[in-house]
Amino acid sequence: MPDLKAVETLDPGEAAAELERLAGEIAEHDRRYHERDAPTISDAAYDALRRRNAAIERRFPDLVRTDSPSLRVGAEPSAKFAKIRHALPMLSLDNAFSDEDVVDFARRVRRFLALDDDAPLAITAEPKIDGLSLSLRYEDGRLVSAATRGDGAVGEDVTRNALTIDDIPHRLSHARPAVFEVRGEVYMTHADFAALNAGLAGTAETDDGADEDDGEPAPGKVRQFANPRNAAAGSLRQKNPEITRSRPLRFFAYAWGEVSERPGDTQSEVVEALGRMGFRTNLQPHAGAQPLMRRFETVEGLVEHYRRIESQRATLGYDIDGVVYKVDDLGFQGDLGFVSRSPRWAIAHKFSAEQATTIVEAIDINVGRTGKLAPLARLKPVTVGGVVVSNVTLHNEDYIAGRDAEGEPIRGGRDVRVGDTVVIQRAGDVIPQVVDVAEGERGPEPFRFPDHCPVCGSKAEREINPRTGRPSSMRRCTATLTCPAQAKEGLKHFVSRNAFDIEGLGQTFVEALFDAGLVKQPADIFRLPVEPLKTLIEERALALRLANEAEEDAALAAKGLAPKTRGKRKAYDYTKATRNLVDGIDARRSIALDRFVFALGIPEIGETTAKALARSFPDVPAIEAAARAAFADQPGEAWSRFLAIPKIGEGTMERLATVTPEELADPEFDPARSERLRLNSAQRLSLRERYTEAAERRAALAEAVEARPGPAYEVLAGLPDVGPVAALSLARFFAEAHNREAVAALLAAGVETEAPARPVTAGSPVAGQTVVFTGTLEKMTRIEAKERAEALGAKVAGSVSKKTDLVVAGPGAGSKLTDAQKHGVRVVSEDEWLDMIGTG
Ligand code: AMP
Repeated sequence: MPDLKAVETLDPGEAAAELERLAGEIAEHDRRYHERDAPTISDAAYDALRRRNAAIERRFPDLVRTDSPSLRVGAEPSAKFAKIRHALPMLSLDNAFSDEDVVDFARRVRRFLALDDDAPLAITAEPKIDGLSLSLRYEDGRLVSAATRGDGAVGEDVTRNALTIDDIPHRLSHARPAVFEVRGEVYMTHADFAALNAGLAGTAETDDGADEDDGEPAPGKVRQFANPRNAAAGSLRQKNPEITRSRPLRFFAYAWGEVSERPGDTQSEVVEALGRMGFRTNLQPHAGAQPLMRRFETVEGLVEHYRRIESQRATLGYDIDGVVYKVDDLGFQGDLGFVSRSPRWAIAHKFSAEQATTIVEAIDINVGRTGKLAPLARLKPVTVGGVVVSNVTLHNEDYIAGRDAEGEPIRGGRDVRVGDTVVIQRAGDVIPQVVDVAEGERGPEPFRFPDHCPVCGSKAEREINPRTGRPSSMRRCTATLTCPAQAKEGLKHFVSRNAFDIEGLGQTFVEALFDAGLVKQPADIFRLPVEPLKTLIEERALALRLANEAEEDAALAAKGLAPKTRGKRKAYDYTKATRNLVDGIDARRSIALDRFVFALGIPEIGETTAKALARSFPDVPAIEAAARAAFADQPGEAWSRFLAIPKIGEGTMERLATVTPEELADPEFDPARSERLRLNSAQRLSLRERYTEAAERRAALAEAVEARPGPAYEVLAGLPDVGPVAALSLARFFAEAHNREAVAALLAAGVETEAPARPVTAGSPVAGQTVVFTGTLEKMTRIEAKERAEALGAKVAGSVSKKTDLVVAGPGAGSKLTDAQKHGVRVVSEDEWLDMIGTG
């Protein structure tokens, strides 16, 4: 921000100029936030702009512009959606930033209503959910339309998307008013957000308009969301409702618009009625205790509740950015009415943003198990949201540079330098992030990301993503087993809980074994010499005991006491400890095939993929053979190059590959115009932008088809839960002789794999059935339910279709239940399900 003059010292000319600048700037931020779901400044910085605008307008009321941000809500609806005019406008809320502001609010309300200072005035307080607001119109109890806020008067028609959200009933329960508009917030929980972003990191949505929700980043780029609110907005504002359906959105109801009969005379009564109609509200108990929405007669009560909610903020599981106070009596609300963009009867008491400013003292590079070079900023320690933060991840090279390998600016990336002053944000329990680099005094030079591994010195390279043909944002050390950092991390992974999980051999002990030179690769664990092992155990136990004693003595000394006199040390039975460890290792000489594969720590091969491989192949040699064949059959560069053309995805490539030699030889033939190849208009355009002449397009396609992957690759990549990225990674792994040797050494050391535990399908009533779980399960978690069902041979799906055999519905089930009825799918309760599978 430029140096700003105090508002009191501005002259009218300066004030007018600044109001003009602020109007433009705020409008641009509004567009980024509301239309593109991709803000470029923090909420706190945005609020500061608005506050300054308001302060200047207060001092110079005559200079208020017709396009003033204070007269406007949100942004105009995006042109890609049909528009819906709200029967009653959807407004914004005035903000309070301090307790004094809340006192002023209550005083203003009383003055306006001509109430005495001691006359009772009930005000509700409830969390301000940080999502996007949505208005749902029910006619005769049926949902007929759903609209975003848009500019407050006209919103975007997202009816089909809203219908896919579980929390949004298609029909109101126990009520069929002629017209009832329910308003509330669409949001995403932290857990769902993290899982969604993790999933998006592995895919690039290219082909089918999934990139529609804003102009950037370039098609084919992996798009992740900056925070749960952007994720919720980006997921709801999709052209294709099926994408919305796949996104874990939720909805809280807290307000209403046009209603033919109002089910109460106070804010609380109507919200209670919303609960009865089938909505989730904050008047319902929270975590089995008191509801988060409550009613108070005094400002003290409100502010106390504000602090209570603030203290629970990090554990709510979703973002809130303040507490909203509303005058409870609806008669009073009517009298109070509105000023410009907000009601006079409500105010949002914002939380102090969980942000702090500090200095980047260094940027360290850690090398992970798969060789990824992970940058970490070392910060001058600072307290953010009540926690001291002294380092924060910088994700990858592009994030630090603020641009990708091709020099294109990337979303959320900043040019972060050592010596920079940065703004750190820690919202809720989300990991701290750098959200801004302060202008002004900057670090002297851009950070030079190493192109060699800082641990072993081998070259560190960017890989090419096979789905997009573009260089990855991540650099990897090219040495695999010879890089000590990778070897050590790899061993830690090898013994981890979901891999070999060896009793008595934890992560720190395996590190000690590595440092002592006893274990260099996984196979060494299975041929550990006993005597050196015993010596190491003894040394470590002794070191630990000495450290404990030193700590005890230091504690005594701090109190001015003499060190403890210790008698003869009890003799530990190190022989027994060693035997126990050797037994633990022996117990794992036989292990499930999927654990074995997962334990190898191959990039992109997680548990799910390992399980998929174990279902398709009998043993390790079979997987190795398939991987090597796939390596030979992998697609050539020309294929990947064609695939990297924006809007061209794998499905489309399959279709393009059906081009015949006759077509390719025909000078009249143009892939971009061919009826038979069925490209959509965006794809045609994209192809013509890439290759201007028809002849070039023919030649590029001919080369691509020539380089198309062979059957062994396609079979591997086509296995469910495997896919091209994992297939290629597996192929590369087994193409390396040292990896094959490490695997062979394990087998030679006597490790045997067991064919995967086949589902216990004999006598299972659900074998082969497709089951969907929805609503809240009370006797098991979703994950337990899924694992149990899969162990019994059922397939667990995320959405209901014709192919679904059974829906298990708990309380709060929403659209999936309606879908089940639509498709005539059998629905059972959780208890009935447990009875069916014999564990009720
Ligand atoms: P603002 O976005 O700052 O203008 O604040 C108004 C917005 O807060 C509304 O449009 C809603 O999207 C949102 N909001 C979140 N929770 C609540 C709530 N409990 N009551 C009213 N508005 C809320």
